[in-house]
Amino acid sequence: MKKVAVFPGSFDPFTIGHEAIIRRAMSLFDEIIIAVGTNTLKKNFYSLETRKEMITRVFENEPRVRVDHYEGLTVDYCKKNGAGYLLRGLRTAADFEFERAIGQINKSMAPGIESVFLLTVPEHSFINSTIVRDIIRSGGDASKFVPSAINLKDYKGIED
Ligand code: ADP
Repeated sequence: MKKVAVFPGSFDPFTIGHEAIIRRAMSLFDEIIIAVGTNTLKKNFYSLETRKEMITRVFENEPRVRVDHYEGLTVDYCKKNGAGYLLRGLRTAADFEFERAIGQINKSMAPGIESVFLLTVPEHSFINSTIVRDIIRSGGDASKFVPSAINLKDYKGIED
């Protein structure tokens, strides 16, 4: 059976931390779907289209990685797409606590789906989208925190 994993997140924006997790996970799965969650309660900086375009650029030469978006429960999205695995990255103890709750709830809702967690490399453990976004909003240079395929100057965020 084909091993399909979903890597869900906001990716606002996609960082080198996210990229590294995907590249490492490629030896574990046949296909990885990067699924941008559209949470209507969350205010985004980059539009959904922009976030998908950025991620698509990073993996344009990688046919085993697909970029999509979804609304609603992540486990429902996994089932609809024949994915048996939910991939997440872990940076800190705070990430672990958060992921533990979600992972256990997902397991009770969808016992057939396994959550798989990869520990970030130490040099990525301080990188998070919120900080990267704040640097961009404040006019700073955040290019070293995003994959080299993403040229931040090509994209405009939504200012509130
Ligand atoms: P969410 O809104 O679901 O937290 P994110 O885009 O912030 O979405 O993160 C998606 C996934 O990537 C989560 O599993 C998160 O822990 C992981 N992640 C975020 N930043 C890093 C990083 N620097 N290194 C490894 N994993 C990361």
